[in-house]
Amino acid sequence: MAKILLNKKNLFYNLEVISKKATNKNKIAVVLKDNAYGHGLIEIAKLCYEFGIEKAVVRTIEDARKIESYFSYILVLADQTFHNYSHTFHIAINSLDDIEKVPQNANVHLKIDTGMHRNGIAIEDIEVAILGLLKHKANITGVFTHHRGADTLSTDFFWQKENFSLVKNSVKNICEKLLLPLPSFHSCNSAGLFRESNFENLNEDFARVGIATYGYLDNDGVFDFPKLKPVMSLWASKMATRYLKKGQSIGYGGKFTATEDMVVSTYDIGYGDGFLRLNEEDSYTTPKGFKVLGRVSMDNLSLNSNENNICLFDDVTTLAKIHKTITYEITCSLKENIKKEILL
Ligand SMILES: *Cc1c(COP(=O)(O)O)cnc(C)c1O
Repeated sequence: MAKILLNKKNLFYNLEVISKKATNKNKIAVVLKDNAYGHGLIEIAKLCYEFGIEKAVVRTIEDARKIESYFSYILVLADQTFHNYSHTFHIAINSLDDIEKVPQNANVHLKIDTGMHRNGIAIEDIEVAILGLLKHKANITGVFTHHRGADTLSTDFFWQKENFSLVKNSVKNICEKLLLPLPSFHSCNSAGLFRESNFENLNEDFARVGIATYGYLDNDGVFDFPKLKPVMSLWASKMATRYLKKGQSIGYGGKFTATEDMVVSTYDIGYGDGFLRLNEEDSYTTPKGFKVLGRVSMDNLSLNSNENNICLFDDVTTLAKIHKTITYEITCSLKENIKKEILL
């Protein structure tokens, strides 16, 4: 059966590198949204807990509930139900309209739009938002923003950083005026954290680290980012082996034709499992040097191998290039029902 192997040593190595950069593990909120980027929400939550991470970020309250026993602080990025179910949950407010839905005593983090123009409250509306939240008796436990280009070589990162620095000052002034406790501030994703020359000087409470946890950091070919270790490898099992004679073709469209007699096997993974479809125009070789032959089907694919179990990838960088996408999409696409096993 196809399975995902999670390399615990690599995960811990990455968390060690990230903790050092962030000054310590309490300054990390590990991002577990979308089934921990395809790695398995519960599996990664447990391992991060074992490492000593206390904060997590998820998309929904439903996901927060699944991992609440492992973390003392969970930020929920995008739930529209806004309940005050647990004091360890902190729910993001993405628009002024959200404020009307917040129940009493809910912990909220106010998301500020510093230039990405996706979600968040405009800088001019901060005071209105804070007053609105107070009227609803919500606890404003955080104020944050998100970078649109921390991983690309442009001035965007510095521009948004400057905007958020104005936000922090303005929030501090408002809190002083209204005698409110100061909320937590956070702005960095993985690339943001590693682009900071000195995270401590930024004076923020934590960084929201997703992709680096899983072993990838896009450096745009220019930044001096550390090399991390991919956590996930994808494995498939053999379903059938046959001898293909020279001239015989394989799979849909018969797009691979043997140029000599050869052994081929079918393995139990396909695009239906989230291993994105490759076709005759792509050339992909597994880490052990086997080639994907012809088109990937919904539930299987063919390789010039007769091994019982094969590793399809232990690093998705090449596949991301072939599919003209980012590493995030390759791991996130893998379906939740693929079995996970932890490699100690
Ligand atoms: C996904 C996400 C992150 C994590 O980003 P990485 O690039 O994976 O580190 C951080 N913050 C927010 C708001 C996100 O949506």
